[in-house]
Amino acid sequence: MSELLIGGVETFSTVDFPGRLAAVVFMQGCPWRCPFCYNAVIQKIGQPTNFLWPKFIEFLGTRKGKLDAVVFSGGEPLVQDGLAEAIKEVKSLSFEIGLHTGGYRPEHLERVLPLVDWVGLDIKAPFIAERYKAVTQTNHLDKVLQSLDLLLKSGKDFECRTTCDPRLLSVEDIYVMADALKAKGVKKYFLQQYRPVEGDKVTTEADCEKFFKDKDLLEKLKADFEEFDTRR
Ligand code: SF4
Repeated sequence: MSELLIGGVETFSTVDFPGRLAAVVFMQGCPWRCPFCYNAVIQKIGQPTNFLWPKFIEFLGTRKGKLDAVVFSGGEPLVQDGLAEAIKEVKSLSFEIGLHTGGYRPEHLERVLPLVDWVGLDIKAPFIAERYKAVTQTNHLDKVLQSLDLLLKSGKDFECRTTCDPRLLSVEDIYVMADALKAKGVKKYFLQQYRPVEGDKVTTEADCEKFFKDKDLLEKLKADFEEFDTRR
């Protein structure tokens, strides 16, 4: 049996795998440090946890016919080497598999991709090295681009999505990101609203909503992608 390090579990979700009723496993470990992180407690890997993998598998045994899928989320699921084995265990119970990732470790994504039914790929910043570093505090842009190419070549169902944190991104940045995604052949793109995290005393509701009230931007995105929507 696989031994994933889990930070938390959502036993029922209608929003984490489009069109599916899913349980979500939040895996420990994350190489990013997004300022909008709502899951910062699980960024560090190896913490004591009450969420044990064998117990989760036991729980899934009681959900057959009630859930369609299991989503591996994070954190960053591609951090843990046991992911493929864990996915195989879940698939043996006849659940579909969703994966949320920022595209870290493309070589690992390539290994697990044949086992996965749907992927949500986070696009955190424009594909411009200095902008990507400024927003994410990391140099992972090349990895993200490799992961995106893998997804495009795989033919797997996937979406790209961006959390619109007004402290990090402008409306202009979204135009730049959308143009790059469209040029690569991405078909599905979603904008997610940022909700101020604890400690953010400066961001107003109007700041968060500016992306979603920009009619020109929304019309362009609707025209550019086969599927575009906002999540608020
Ligand atoms: S990728 Fe997710 S878990 Fe990691 S820092 Fe960003 S928001 Fe937090």
